[in-house]
Amino acid sequence: MPSRRWAWVEVDLSAVAHNISALRKPLPPGCRFMAVVKADGYGHGAVEIAKTALGAGAAVLGVATVDEGERLREAGIDAPVMVLAEAPPEAARDVVGLRLTPTVATREAALAISSAASEMGRVVGFHLKIDTGMHRIGVAHDEAASFLQSLVGLPGLRLEGVFTHFATADVPGDWDFEKQLERFKDSLAAVRAAGFDPGVAHAANSAATILAPSAHFDMVRCGIAVYGLHPSEATRERVDLRPAMSVKARVAAVREVGMGEGVSYGLTWRASGPTTIATLPLGYADGIHRVLSGRMRVLLGGRMCEQVGRVCMDQLMVEVPRGVGVGLGDEAVVVGEQSGKRLTLDELAEAAGTINYEMACAFAARLSRRYV
Ligand SMILES: *Cc1c(COP(=O)(O)O)cnc(C)c1O
Repeated sequence: MPSRRWAWVEVDLSAVAHNISALRKPLPPGCRFMAVVKADGYGHGAVEIAKTALGAGAAVLGVATVDEGERLREAGIDAPVMVLAEAPPEAARDVVGLRLTPTVATREAALAISSAASEMGRVVGFHLKIDTGMHRIGVAHDEAASFLQSLVGLPGLRLEGVFTHFATADVPGDWDFEKQLERFKDSLAAVRAAGFDPGVAHAANSAATILAPSAHFDMVRCGIAVYGLHPSEATRERVDLRPAMSVKARVAAVREVGMGEGVSYGLTWRASGPTTIATLPLGYADGIHRVLSGRMRVLLGGRMCEQVGRVCMDQLMVEVPRGVGVGLGDEAVVVGEQSGKRLTLDELAEAAGTINYEMACAFAARLSRRYV
């Protein structure tokens, strides 16, 4: 395919497969692996990641919205796809039609799924979400059994799983994490005592999967670590992850500017002497947040180069170190490796005042992806 644009995201699918094997290794036998591919696979491309993940042993895919689930089905993916948050009641027919596994946390959602399922002559396995302390979504931890009791008799519904989500799994030994874990275990016990089979119990995101074997239960739900990014500093020494995403561009223009000349909007950066400036054709509409202006580096000509001046919507400028020859079409690396040097998504995120999760998602915006 001809390149229409000299800026792109490169995704190393073998790194994704490696990460999933590394994450699965310490899991107890029979513990299922959900690959979370919401937000277009954290910016990596949901369909390609989903296929690679299933090939590497993932049993279930996780999405955030019905549209994301639909995209996987349209790509011919037949594996179980769970929608990790409640869809609006009016989307229930689509949830059932697309054979997505719904999250239920309110009576309204349960009623909508039940009526869509019975109209369509189906029985839908749902997962009950329990709020054990994060206070985002879910049935209160001490009301799980009574909530299930209140659904008895609704047609077309079958309890397939019970789950919760941690607020502080990235902090090893955290007291609130332990409290959430205890509450989840108590809810499971109460559900069983009320005569319900909770089915698949799950709680662990990437951080808990890596740091807390006591939270593995019957399935783990990994997102960020699948992509080779660490959810916290604490996980770095526990598992060998390989970052899957690189962000690259080719030099679209090179010019010499004299001492005192400014670069980019506002001319906020000025050359302290004769300087070579290279222009890369990507900017904040591609996920290079404008707040990164003058705070980020780029690998070019095998050297670490400073980005200078304001990041524009579609372009950014780089100061080429003296003595480095750079020409039109030369490859530059914004995230990834060049000549043995590496720029990480983590450092870019830190410079932008955010986390690697948000930085990865940002690159979904307009860059095309190449799979290697
Ligand atoms: C996004 C999400 C995950 C994945 O979290 P990571 O920290 O990326 O591993 C797991 N569970 C739920 C409910 C989520 O929304």
